[in-house]
Amino acid sequence: MTKNPKYIILLGPPASGKGTQAAKLRQALELPHVASGDLFRYNLKNKTELGLKAKAYMDSGALVPDDVTIAMVSDRLSWPDCAGGALLDGFPRTIAQAEALDHVLAEKGLRINRVLNILVPDEVLVARITGRRLCRICGEPYHILYKLPQVEGICDLDGGELYQRDDDTEETAQNRLKVYWEQTSPLIAYYREQGVSVDINGDQSIKAVTEELMNAVTDL
Ligand code: AMP
Repeated sequence: MTKNPKYIILLGPPASGKGTQAAKLRQALELPHVASGDLFRYNLKNKTELGLKAKAYMDSGALVPDDVTIAMVSDRLSWPDCAGGALLDGFPRTIAQAEALDHVLAEKGLRINRVLNILVPDEVLVARITGRRLCRICGEPYHILYKLPQVEGICDLDGGELYQRDDDTEETAQNRLKVYWEQTSPLIAYYREQGVSVDINGDQSIKAVTEELMNAVTDL
Protein backbone atom coordinates (compact mmCIF):
# COMPACT_ATOMS: atom_id res chain seq x y z
CA MET A 1 0.00 0.00 0.00
CA THR A 2 1.39 3.38 -1.00
CA LYS A 3 1.88 5.90 1.82
CA ASN A 4 1.14 9.62 1.48
CA PRO A 5 -0.04 9.95 -2.10
CA LYS A 6 1.27 13.10 -3.74
CA TYR A 7 -0.85 15.08 -6.15
CA ILE A 8 1.14 17.81 -7.81
CA ILE A 9 -0.14 20.21 -10.48
CA LEU A 10 2.06 21.86 -13.08
CA LEU A 11 0.17 25.08 -13.80
CA GLY A 12 1.27 27.46 -16.52
CA PRO A 13 0.44 28.83 -19.97
CA PRO A 14 1.00 26.78 -23.14
CA ALA A 15 4.73 26.21 -23.78
CA SER A 16 5.72 27.32 -20.29
CA GLY A 17 7.68 24.06 -20.08
CA LYS A 18 5.17 21.85 -18.29
CA GLY A 19 5.73 18.83 -20.55
CA THR A 20 9.52 19.18 -20.57
CA GLN A 21 9.70 19.54 -16.82
CA ALA A 22 7.16 16.78 -16.16
CA ALA A 23 9.43 14.32 -17.95
CA LYS A 24 12.18 15.17 -15.44
CA LEU A 25 10.05 15.42 -12.31
CA ARG A 26 8.16 12.19 -12.90
CA GLN A 27 11.39 10.22 -12.65
CA ALA A 28 12.64 12.02 -9.57
CA LEU A 29 9.27 11.84 -7.81
CA GLU A 30 8.26 8.41 -9.16
CA LEU A 31 4.84 9.68 -10.13
CA PRO A 32 2.85 9.02 -13.31
CA HIS A 33 2.60 12.00 -15.67
CA VAL A 34 -1.06 12.70 -16.37
CA ALA A 35 -1.28 15.23 -19.22
CA SER A 36 -4.79 16.02 -20.42
CA GLY A 37 -3.50 17.26 -23.80
CA ASP A 38 -1.66 13.94 -24.34
CA LEU A 39 -4.81 12.01 -23.41
CA PHE A 40 -6.82 14.03 -25.93
CA ARG A 41 -4.15 13.57 -28.64
CA TYR A 42 -4.09 9.81 -27.98
CA ASN A 43 -7.89 9.68 -28.41
CA LEU A 44 -7.70 11.81 -31.54
CA LYS A 45 -5.05 9.58 -33.10
CA ASN A 46 -7.12 6.49 -32.34
CA LYS A 47 -10.29 8.17 -33.60
CA THR A 48 -12.26 7.37 -30.45
CA GLU A 49 -15.61 9.04 -29.74
CA LEU A 50 -13.86 11.23 -27.16
CA GLY A 51 -11.18 12.22 -29.66
CA LEU A 52 -13.78 13.17 -32.27
CA LYS A 53 -15.64 15.29 -29.69
CA ALA A 54 -12.42 17.10 -28.73
CA LYS A 55 -11.01 17.70 -32.23
CA ALA A 56 -12.73 20.98 -33.22
CA TYR A 57 -11.89 22.59 -29.88
CA MET A 58 -8.26 21.50 -30.03
CA ASP A 59 -7.85 22.66 -33.63
CA SER A 60 -8.86 26.21 -32.71
CA GLY A 61 -7.00 26.29 -29.39
CA ALA A 62 -10.24 26.41 -27.39
CA LEU A 63 -10.83 24.34 -24.28
CA VAL A 64 -12.69 21.05 -24.59
CA PRO A 65 -15.91 21.28 -22.50
CA ASP A 66 -15.45 20.67 -18.77
CA ASP A 67 -17.75 17.62 -18.52
CA VAL A 68 -15.80 15.71 -21.20
CA THR A 69 -12.42 16.72 -19.77
CA ILE A 70 -13.30 16.03 -16.14
CA ALA A 71 -14.66 12.55 -16.99
CA MET A 72 -11.52 11.69 -18.97
CA VAL A 73 -9.04 12.81 -16.29
CA SER A 74 -11.05 11.37 -13.38
CA ASP A 75 -11.01 8.02 -15.16
CA ARG A 76 -7.24 8.25 -15.68
CA LEU A 77 -6.71 9.06 -11.99
CA SER A 78 -8.59 5.90 -11.02
CA TRP A 79 -5.99 3.67 -12.71
CA PRO A 80 -3.82 1.69 -10.28
CA ASP A 81 -0.62 3.56 -11.23
CA CYS A 82 -2.14 6.74 -9.75
CA ALA A 83 -2.66 5.18 -6.30
CA GLY A 84 0.52 6.92 -5.11
CA GLY A 85 -0.47 10.24 -6.66
CA ALA A 86 0.13 11.93 -9.98
CA LEU A 87 1.90 14.76 -11.68
CA LEU A 88 -0.89 16.66 -13.42
CA ASP A 89 -0.03 18.68 -16.51
CA GLY A 90 -2.62 20.77 -18.39
CA PHE A 91 -5.39 19.87 -15.96
CA PRO A 92 -7.19 21.59 -14.31
CA ARG A 93 -7.60 24.52 -16.70
CA THR A 94 -10.82 26.04 -15.35
CA ILE A 95 -12.21 26.69 -11.88
CA ALA A 96 -14.93 24.06 -12.55
CA GLN A 97 -12.22 21.47 -13.32
CA ALA A 98 -10.28 22.42 -10.17
CA GLU A 99 -13.40 22.06 -8.03
CA ALA A 100 -14.20 18.69 -9.64
CA LEU A 101 -10.65 17.51 -8.97
CA ASP A 102 -10.82 18.64 -5.33
CA HIS A 103 -14.06 16.70 -5.05
CA VAL A 104 -12.66 13.48 -6.61
CA LEU A 105 -9.66 13.61 -4.25
CA ALA A 106 -11.69 14.56 -1.17
CA GLU A 107 -13.86 11.48 -1.67
CA LYS A 108 -10.70 9.44 -1.05
CA GLY A 109 -9.56 11.66 1.83
CA LEU A 110 -6.92 13.24 -0.40
CA ARG A 111 -6.07 16.73 -1.60
CA ILE A 112 -3.78 18.61 -3.95
CA ASN A 113 -0.43 18.80 -2.20
CA ARG A 114 1.36 21.35 -4.35
CA VAL A 115 0.72 23.58 -7.35
CA LEU A 116 3.80 24.66 -9.28
CA ASN A 117 2.85 27.91 -10.96
CA ILE A 118 5.27 28.40 -13.87
CA LEU A 119 5.61 32.04 -14.95
CA VAL A 120 6.86 33.01 -18.43
CA PRO A 121 6.22 36.30 -20.33
CA ASP A 122 3.71 35.98 -23.23
CA GLU A 123 6.15 37.11 -25.96
CA VAL A 124 8.57 34.32 -24.96
CA LEU A 125 5.70 31.82 -25.10
CA VAL A 126 4.68 32.62 -28.69
CA ALA A 127 8.27 32.09 -29.91
CA ARG A 128 8.46 28.84 -27.96
CA ILE A 129 5.14 27.55 -29.31
CA THR A 130 5.75 28.22 -33.00
CA GLY A 131 9.26 26.69 -32.91
CA ARG A 132 8.25 23.60 -30.96
CA ARG A 133 8.69 20.13 -32.48
CA LEU A 134 7.79 16.78 -30.87
CA CYS A 135 8.82 13.18 -31.39
CA ARG A 136 6.06 11.14 -33.00
CA ILE A 137 7.02 8.11 -30.92
CA CYS A 138 7.81 9.30 -27.39
CA GLY A 139 6.55 12.91 -27.42
CA GLU A 140 9.94 14.34 -26.38
CA PRO A 141 9.85 18.09 -27.08
CA TYR A 142 12.49 19.94 -29.17
CA HIS A 143 12.74 23.51 -30.46
CA ILE A 144 14.08 24.80 -33.78
CA LEU A 145 16.14 27.47 -31.94
CA TYR A 146 16.57 26.45 -28.32
CA LYS A 147 16.73 22.66 -28.26
CA LEU A 148 17.96 21.11 -31.49
CA PRO A 149 18.18 17.35 -31.91
CA GLN A 150 21.58 15.91 -32.88
CA VAL A 151 20.22 14.93 -36.32
CA GLU A 152 17.74 17.35 -37.89
CA GLY A 153 14.15 16.13 -37.69
CA ILE A 154 15.01 13.01 -35.66
CA CYS A 155 14.50 12.34 -31.93
CA ASP A 156 17.74 11.77 -29.98
CA LEU A 157 16.04 9.24 -27.72
CA ASP A 158 14.44 6.77 -30.13
CA GLY A 159 15.01 7.95 -33.70
CA GLY A 160 11.36 8.95 -34.08
CA GLU A 161 10.36 11.58 -36.63
CA LEU A 162 9.87 15.11 -35.23
CA TYR A 163 6.64 16.92 -36.10
CA GLN A 164 4.88 20.19 -35.39
CA ARG A 165 1.56 20.03 -33.55
CA ASP A 166 -1.39 21.27 -35.63
CA ASP A 167 -2.20 23.79 -32.89
CA ASP A 168 1.34 25.20 -32.64
CA THR A 169 0.79 27.84 -35.37
CA GLU A 170 1.10 31.57 -34.59
CA GLU A 171 -2.66 32.19 -34.83
CA THR A 172 -3.65 29.27 -32.61
CA ALA A 173 -0.83 30.12 -30.19
CA GLN A 174 -2.28 33.60 -29.68
CA ASN A 175 -5.71 32.11 -29.09
CA ARG A 176 -4.39 29.53 -26.63
CA LEU A 177 -2.69 32.29 -24.64
CA LYS A 178 -5.91 34.32 -24.62
CA VAL A 179 -7.80 31.25 -23.38
CA TYR A 180 -5.15 30.73 -20.70
CA TRP A 181 -5.45 34.27 -19.35
CA GLU A 182 -9.23 34.29 -19.47
CA GLN A 183 -10.09 30.81 -18.23
CA THR A 184 -7.06 29.23 -16.57
CA SER A 185 -5.22 32.06 -14.80
CA PRO A 186 -7.97 32.40 -12.13
CA LEU A 187 -6.59 29.10 -10.83
CA ILE A 188 -3.48 30.94 -9.63
CA ALA A 189 -5.56 32.75 -6.98
CA TYR A 190 -7.67 29.64 -6.33
CA TYR A 191 -4.62 27.59 -5.30
CA ARG A 192 -2.89 30.51 -3.54
CA GLU A 193 -5.94 30.67 -1.30
CA GLN A 194 -5.54 26.96 -0.56
CA GLY A 195 -1.94 27.73 0.46
CA VAL A 196 -0.47 25.06 -1.83
CA SER A 197 0.95 27.21 -4.63
CA VAL A 198 4.61 28.03 -5.32
CA ASP A 199 5.67 30.47 -8.07
CA ILE A 200 8.42 29.24 -10.40
CA ASN A 201 10.42 31.40 -12.81
CA GLY A 202 9.99 29.52 -16.09
CA ASP A 203 12.01 32.02 -18.12
CA GLN A 204 15.43 30.48 -17.45
CA SER A 205 17.34 27.40 -18.61
CA ILE A 206 15.57 24.02 -18.51
CA LYS A 207 18.04 22.87 -15.85
CA ALA A 208 17.52 25.93 -13.66
CA VAL A 209 13.73 25.53 -13.87
CA THR A 210 14.01 21.84 -12.93
CA GLU A 211 16.09 22.79 -9.88
CA GLU A 212 13.58 25.40 -8.78
CA LEU A 213 10.74 22.91 -9.22
CA MET A 214 12.55 20.18 -7.29
CA ASN A 215 13.25 22.60 -4.43
CA ALA A 216 9.54 23.40 -4.31
CA VAL A 217 8.53 19.78 -3.67
CA THR A 218 11.31 18.45 -1.41
CA ASP A 219 9.16 18.81 1.70
CA LEU A 220 6.36 16.58 0.36
P1 AMP B 1 -1.98 20.89 -24.26
O1 AMP B 1 -1.24 19.74 -24.84
O2 AMP B 1 -2.05 20.82 -22.77
O3 AMP B 1 -1.52 22.23 -24.75
O4 AMP B 1 -3.51 20.73 -24.76
C1 AMP B 1 -3.85 20.75 -26.13
C2 AMP B 1 -5.34 21.05 -26.29
O5 AMP B 1 -6.11 20.01 -25.66
C3 AMP B 1 -5.82 22.34 -25.65
O6 AMP B 1 -5.60 23.49 -26.47
C4 AMP B 1 -7.30 22.05 -25.44
O7 AMP B 1 -8.03 22.13 -26.66
C5 AMP B 1 -7.27 20.57 -25.04
N1 AMP B 1 -7.11 20.43 -23.56
C6 AMP B 1 -6.05 19.91 -22.89
N2 AMP B 1 -6.26 19.94 -21.57
C7 AMP B 1 -7.47 20.50 -21.38
C8 AMP B 1 -8.25 20.83 -20.23
N3 AMP B 1 -7.80 20.59 -18.99
N4 AMP B 1 -9.47 21.39 -20.43
C9 AMP B 1 -9.95 21.62 -21.66
N5 AMP B 1 -9.26 21.37 -22.79
C10 AMP B 1 -8.03 20.81 -22.66
